[in-house]
Amino acid sequence: MAENLRSLDKQDMEALMLQLGEPKFRAKQLFGWVHGKGVESLAEMHNLGKNLLAKLEQEITLPPYEVLARQQSVDGTEKFLLALEDGQAIECVLMRYRGDNSKHRNTLCVSSQVGCAMGCTFCATGQGGFVRNLSVGEILGQVYAVNRYLQDESDERIGNIVFMGMGEPLLNFDNVLKAINIFNDEEGLQIGIRRMTISTCGIAPQIERLAEQEKEIVFAVSLHAPNDEQRSEMMPVNKRYPLAVLMKACRHYQKVTGKRISFEYALMKGFNDSDKHIQQLQQLLQGMDAHINLIPVNPVDDGSPYRRPSRREVLDFAGKLKARGLACSVREEKGTDIDGACGQLRGKVQQKKREGQA
Ligand code: SAH
Ligand code: SF4
Repeated sequence: MAENLRSLDKQDMEALMLQLGEPKFRAKQLFGWVHGKGVESLAEMHNLGKNLLAKLEQEITLPPYEVLARQQSVDGTEKFLLALEDGQAIECVLMRYRGDNSKHRNTLCVSSQVGCAMGCTFCATGQGGFVRNLSVGEILGQVYAVNRYLQDESDERIGNIVFMGMGEPLLNFDNVLKAINIFNDEEGLQIGIRRMTISTCGIAPQIERLAEQEKEIVFAVSLHAPNDEQRSEMMPVNKRYPLAVLMKACRHYQKVTGKRISFEYALMKGFNDSDKHIQQLQQLLQGMDAHINLIPVNPVDDGSPYRRPSRREVLDFAGKLKARGLACSVREEKGTDIDGACGQLRGKVQQKKREGQA
């Protein structure tokens, strides 16, 4: 299959123009159409000339955005299931934050892989297994598609991006980093690096790599349990990179970047919410500039062994953390009624397909 034009950054486009015998300034124009405007077809690029468009048509693909399913929550959060060229599908979730004095913030939670190989037991994506990495163009395409959708209803667009959809971003490192740089480009969407978040289940060596490469990004680690026994039970990655190794990488990251690290903690009733866990958390994060994000676990199906605590219980846990001097916040929950956790919509559509075939 020809390459997706959206996977090309400025240098790649310059190389392509050279190859096609076109002047260099064409690359800049092309970049603006593809990454600034997020066009869906070559026909939209009306200043490139018929000749070049015909040549491009032979070399690349520019798949239109195709929304297979959409779910809207009562709080305005919307989940999209997007089709990929090879028939696979990925999810992304639009979260609308409406602050005072009409300060709007639109955040898109994007996927980095089709499925995930990490197999976390509480996660719908993890339970479905791994299919493949997303290309740079497929990562970017999620934001471009939803921006187009937003434009149809208002002049708003995505201002923040979080890599918390399907997949483990640090295992698709090069493509994720390239996509981040294109999002940030002044002829692209100009999204500040500080407005992008990478969340990892804890691939220690890649955390060290990230520290060298991208210092301004918001960095989050999915912790969920503060001891190896419980963490290995629900996150198999912990057997490979146990807490001592993970925390060493995190401390290194902080030393190199000087940035605060967020730790995601999905609170599971009767599992990771005792005073003992608070003590262990305190020990683990001692001396670090850390922020704990608490979120009540979202049981992915009826058979899930994890129980969701009440809002009161989450707030109590947060209060105890704060009393011990640990910075934390209770994550504003979005889209719980539409299975906020990524991977669930894709799972449901696949199940329906299977039922339809049965
Ligand atoms: N693979 C990366 C990023 C994608 S998951 C990672 O694991 O960090 C994004 C976040 O959603 C992670 O913090 C993950 O642990 C959390 N998550 C997944 N399933 C969940 C569920 N059922 N309930 C609550 N949080 C969940
Ligand atoms: Fe993969 Fe993250 Fe889900 Fe774990 S929580 S299975 S790493 S997507």
